[in-house]
Amino acid sequence: MNIVEVKNLRKWFKVKRILGKSVTIKAVDGISFNINKGEVFVLAGESGSGKSTTARLILNAIKPDEGSIIFDGNDVTKLNGKELKRFRREAQMIHQDPYASLDPRMKIMDIVREPLSIHEKKNKKEEEEEVLKVLEEVKLEPAEEIATRYPHMLSGGQRQRVAIARALILRPKFIIADEPVSMLDISVRGEILDLLRDLQMRYNMTYLYITHDLSTARYVGNEIAIMYKGKIVEMGDIDKVLLNPLHPYTKALIEAISEPDPENLYREKNILINKSIIELNDYGCKFYQRCMHAMDRCKREPNLVEIEDKHSVACFLYS
Ligand code: SF4
Repeated sequence: MNIVEVKNLRKWFKVKRILGKSVTIKAVDGISFNINKGEVFVLAGESGSGKSTTARLILNAIKPDEGSIIFDGNDVTKLNGKELKRFRREAQMIHQDPYASLDPRMKIMDIVREPLSIHEKKNKKEEEEEVLKVLEEVKLEPAEEIATRYPHMLSGGQRQRVAIARALILRPKFIIADEPVSMLDISVRGEILDLLRDLQMRYNMTYLYITHDLSTARYVGNEIAIMYKGKIVEMGDIDKVLLNPLHPYTKALIEAISEPDPENLYREKNILINKSIIELNDYGCKFYQRCMHAMDRCKREPNLVEIEDKHSVACFLYS
């Protein structure tokens, strides 16, 4: 059963550039995907691929130019008043940067309590009990002591646990985790991923997990969509996509995992996948200029086509 259905979502930005010339950035360019209840859907790709814009659209932080986002049967883009408030409670976000996402002037007790104060009418003692309970759930112990501290008194891993506790305290149905471990020491990344997975299984929560790192994607995900320049180029069951990648871009990302110097890999294979979105062709396959297999027909746009059960790709090599 789907909890999120994204249909034909499009968001373009007009950017004024030097000499007064404006450029259109097709941040999200007609993408569709569904997220099953209780599962982790991974949105993966390099910076500039449109992952974070997609997250902001789903959370109703910005409005799409086209398309719909159905959450639990309701179109998020049309919510207002009480329905919007309920949605904001049921869908929470964990940000990438545990240093910037917590107010340095507030104690941990108040940071974690704040969403409760906005969304629920509880007395102070009940709120504090809830905060201590959720701090224990995210393994911040002793909770009473942690609650009295300020963010700068905690490590990066502990701060991210605080951010998770803050997202969890309203018992949401859906969490968007935007690169939640990318700014943490490698030594604590596994612990935070284990925590997210434990919480997801314990509460049957649904995640949209956003990452550029396919090794963490496989660790947490059930399904995956690979984004490139605002498009989904490959999508499906995570094992099928990552063990048998079809799209040349997905293959390059996977090869980069084991490459000690990814920049060098991209250079050698002439697939400079980190370059800016603005420089690219605006017609046909977005990967055309960097693809070793580019053909004449790739000047047209390939559709996302199902190649096998739960595995689709947008590439003329397969259709
Ligand atoms: Fe390469 Fe053509 Fe496939 Fe695009 S459609 S990835 S240019 S082969």
